[in-house]
Amino acid sequence: MRFDVLTLFPEMIEANFEYSIMKRAVDAGIIEINTVNPRDYTHNKHRKVDDTPYGGGAGMVLMPQPYVDAYDAVEKITNSCTVMLTPQGEPFNNKICAELAGYEQLILLCGHYEGFDERIREIIKPREISIGDFVLTGGELPALCIIDSVSRRLEGTLGKIESMEDDSFSDGLLEYPQYTKPRDFRGYKVPEVLLNGNHKEIEEFRHQQKIERTKLRRPDLLG
Ligand code: SAM
Repeated sequence: MRFDVLTLFPEMIEANFEYSIMKRAVDAGIIEINTVNPRDYTHNKHRKVDDTPYGGGAGMVLMPQPYVDAYDAVEKITNSCTVMLTPQGEPFNNKICAELAGYEQLILLCGHYEGFDERIREIIKPREISIGDFVLTGGELPALCIIDSVSRRLEGTLGKIESMEDDSFSDGLLEYPQYTKPRDFRGYKVPEVLLNGNHKEIEEFRHQQKIERTKLRRPDLLG
């Protein structure tokens, strides 16, 4: 799967793929990350990408020309989806993540400063996604959240050790509590049922825990 990220700060994106599972996915050719900097598409002497808002107000708005030209320059493949990262978009979740994993290319538009000139939306007509009801300084972290969560769904990204089988949300519930060695840490003990080797009992215990956790922490998921 190919990710093309429009960003004024390509290094922020690239650094993420130098470590751990995401690096392995790139090295194995499961994902490909390209960055495109709208600043390289400016026509003005100072390579300016932003300007003051018409009508007044604080901050700087991203001008349409560098973003739209940079977007036009991205090679698009047939099964492609363009996503604008914005706090005004639909809230990202596991369902949207699964949908996005069905594409062969995601083009991700990262804003900065006060955000995008409205005509960037009107011309590109992207799907607009928010990673939560809070405001970040830029779209790079949201883009990385999407790339990471989508990539871990792709075959081969996760080894058996990092398997996503029982992850929270995979069956609509939160995951059960996990324990590893030692059996007793500062008097806090691993539940006996996990030590007895009875797989049926372990499965029942975990299932029960998933339901209780979800009821307690995220009752909205149970509907
Ligand atoms: N003025 C904009 C507003 O109130 O809707 C916020 C602009 S924000 C400071 C700068 C950029 O960060 C946005 O254009 C967007 O790309 C990104 N961003 C900030 N918060 C985000 C969120 N919750 N989800 C996705 N992107 C976000």
